[in-house]
Amino acid sequence: MVIDSHQIEKLLKEEKQPSAEKISTILEKAAQGKGLGLREAATLLSVSEPLLLQRIFKTAGEVKEKVFGKRVVLFAPLYLSNYCTNGCLYCGFRNTNKGMDRTALEPSQVVAEAKTLEGMGFKRVLLVTGEDPRWGLDYIIDCVKAVYKNTGMRIIHLNAPPTDTDSLRKLKEAGVGVYQSFQETYHRPTYELMHPTGRKKDYDFRLEVMDRAMEAGFGDVGIGPLLGLYDFRFDALASIAHSFHLYEKFGAHAHTISIPRLRPAEDFALKEVPYTVTDEDLKKIVAVFRLSVPTAGIVASTRETAEFRSELLHVGATQLSAASRTNPGGYTRGEKETLEQFSTTDHRSLIEVMGSVIDEGYLPSLCTTCYRVGRVGHEFTEKTLSGSMEKLCQANAILTIKEYLSDYAQNGSREMLEKAINMALNDVSDPAMKKALLDKIKELEEGKRDLYF
Ligand code: SAM
Ligand code: SF4
Repeated sequence: MVIDSHQIEKLLKEEKQPSAEKISTILEKAAQGKGLGLREAATLLSVSEPLLLQRIFKTAGEVKEKVFGKRVVLFAPLYLSNYCTNGCLYCGFRNTNKGMDRTALEPSQVVAEAKTLEGMGFKRVLLVTGEDPRWGLDYIIDCVKAVYKNTGMRIIHLNAPPTDTDSLRKLKEAGVGVYQSFQETYHRPTYELMHPTGRKKDYDFRLEVMDRAMEAGFGDVGIGPLLGLYDFRFDALASIAHSFHLYEKFGAHAHTISIPRLRPAEDFALKEVPYTVTDEDLKKIVAVFRLSVPTAGIVASTRETAEFRSELLHVGATQLSAASRTNPGGYTRGEKETLEQFSTTDHRSLIEVMGSVIDEGYLPSLCTTCYRVGRVGHEFTEKTLSGSMEKLCQANAILTIKEYLSDYAQNGSREMLEKAINMALNDVSDPAMKKALLDKIKELEEGKRDLYF
């Protein structure tokens, strides 16, 4: 069984008003960066007392730095197609939304989109698509191969509908880094209500896709609840349980946990968001993810505002999308030509997002190393748990920002990036690492590219 919903409900009922002593004990354990048990995560999720929440947030911010250093990874989504045969009530792409223009980009158009992103400085792209057999496995593979062949994108991740093990194996062979699919809600009755038609109706087929992906050779998979469909405590705890299941069975935690919060979409079929998730709730969710599964990247998308995304960095978020368009062709053809899947709220460019990451005291990173050197799955989880990723993440962030500075930065932002690099270099305490890093920076200055540890 991937998750036991009765156990999750029971744990959430047990804990209503945990004492400050109990929270202190849990936070002491969490501060070591080795994770928590499900019961402890349930206890933290039930906290509502402001002072206790602040302590949870503070510990989560500290654990993030202990595990990944100050780096915040930046990437962009690229929508392939908005054709969809499913009827998800919350999504603008659903098949009953007859009024919308549908587009499936040709692989050459996908390349043009990826080139536009490359021109902005992105090195990793997340391909996203609706579910339609006419634009299924072969089409996605053609797009992946075309982007690798014709652009400088270094890693391609994929958010695509669940499929069988053989198809997942082919996606892996085509070079997909992380396979991502969100369960939306782990609460079966709500899931069934929200997905009335189409293949996505099948709760179990979706829930078990990460097991199939790992069996197919994906070391790294990305999970996430669509927050707002059901009680966030249930879905957050179930997401943690999902990651624990993957760790027990395959020795690797979920590589990423995304935190999409339901946004109005064109012709929104729901009258309102069924379960409101406040900003404070979302901060708590991020913090509890960070403390329970410290090795996971926590991904905050442009569904959230610029200001709030900055706040999320301090409670454990480690990855931000930037400059996002959620309509196929959005980067080359502009925002309005085809409908967006949901409305985005943070419209800043890559360099603007980099600037705010730096302002918050963190270091932007365009790193793609682990996927390319095979530091994935079990190895990534164990290296991160043992504390040895922090140094590598920090060093690779410095190298990627140096490269961005040389190739993309305009006059107005050069000084800001140089200052950030120098401050980050000052933080490197290991003399051998510092020397190696300075050597690589010199090589970058001499024209070499794509250097990493
Ligand atoms: N079609 C595929 C699927 O459903 O798995 C993958 C891509 S779907 C375009 C990406 C994710 O967007 C969904 O899994 C869902 O969590 C999220 N999403 C859909 N509608 C949304 C909305 N109105 N607000 C916020 N996120 C939404
Ligand atoms: Fe289709 Fe995915 Fe939107 Fe559902 S969430 S309608 S499957 S694109």
